[in-house]
Amino acid sequence: MLTILSQNTTDDNRDRAWAALRESFADWESVRHADPSTLRSVIRPAGLGRQKAAAIQAALERIETDRGRISLDHLEGMNDREALDYLTDVRGVGTKTAACVLCFGLRRPVLPVDTHVRRLATRLGWVQEGSSAERTHEILNRTVPGALRFRLHLALIAHGRATCTARRPTCGTCVLAGDCPKIGVGAGG
Ligand code: SF4
Repeated sequence: MLTILSQNTTDDNRDRAWAALRESFADWESVRHADPSTLRSVIRPAGLGRQKAAAIQAALERIETDRGRISLDHLEGMNDREALDYLTDVRGVGTKTAACVLCFGLRRPVLPVDTHVRRLATRLGWVQEGSSAERTHEILNRTVPGALRFRLHLALIAHGRATCTARRPTCGTCVLAGDCPKIGVGAGG
């Protein structure tokens, strides 16, 4: 649910919404049966309240219907592909969210592709220009060794925030400049 809240918002706003959610509801059953407008109001700090509240309740409903209770314990018995397919089949859960559940929740060797990872993978020439997030996920999780995926995910996000930003990449101080086909992209727009 934290990963649903994190879509298209800052870490701070996600954390505020998550804290409010934990404070306002005793358990996931209460969230699942909450009045939608109440849930929207609680998670408002994360933005997209209507969409995220619907996604959270749909996910909880689906899990409860499948398992008879709200738990993702059954994912432990699935391989990475099966778990990813199960999660992305839940309405409102995309590839990145599902990959985050696997990576951070289940400690699986899966590399989630967020906006920073996708931008870096494109600029560094690891995927073709214009590749979708799903295609980028597929390529990186096929070509990057499992033992490196988690650390690479974190490193690319850190580099994307500090140096290779979307609008003003500072190529002049970038440690990857020697290997980057897009060096100077900031100066040329
Ligand atoms: S050289 Fe520039 S475009 Fe390439 S990774 Fe570094 S900051 Fe990004």
